[in-house]
Amino acid sequence: MAGTLVLNASYEPLCVVPMRRAVVLILAEKAVMVEAGDELMHSATHAIQVPRVVRLCRYVRVPYRRQIPLTRRAILARDAHRCVYCALRADTIDHVIPRSRGGRNEWTNVVAACARCNHRKGDRLLAEIGWSLSRVPVQPPPTVALVLGWAKRDPTWDRYLGYESPIAEASAS
Ligand SMILES: [Zn+2]
Repeated sequence: MAGTLVLNASYEPLCVVPMRRAVVLILAEKAVMVEAGDELMHSATHAIQVPRVVRLCRYVRVPYRRQIPLTRRAILARDAHRCVYCALRADTIDHVIPRSRGGRNEWTNVVAACARCNHRKGDRLLAEIGWSLSRVPVQPPPTVALVLGWAKRDPTWDRYLGYESPIAEASAS
């Protein structure tokens, strides 16, 4: 599903909305285009370039944004559903340092892993089996919560989110 990143008047990222909703905001002069795609969208009376990023004309107050909760869904989304060990599709969560060996349940110690790698690794440390991480697990900044769960994350959003997508990193390797 194609979405559009909505920025506050201050350029702070606010949310992701369906592209058609963003077009309505532009036509109603409630938002302006910041990044546009090459394709055109047609309505009964208008043709408009598809909005990838829009900015609201008026500033809206937003409540304090808390850190992203550490959930299975959020970890898989951060790692783009790719196994950190073999790069195949991941459906399970692995503790890099196993909990039985004192590893903590925190962003920097959890990664997406396929069931096969997870099973093979078991309760061992990476050094013990000669494995390495294809990317270092980090805590995503709160702004990334806005796009977690969107199947198709638009790379043009990244500089507004202040975060380089792990998808780009994974597909480059
Ligand atoms: Zn794997």
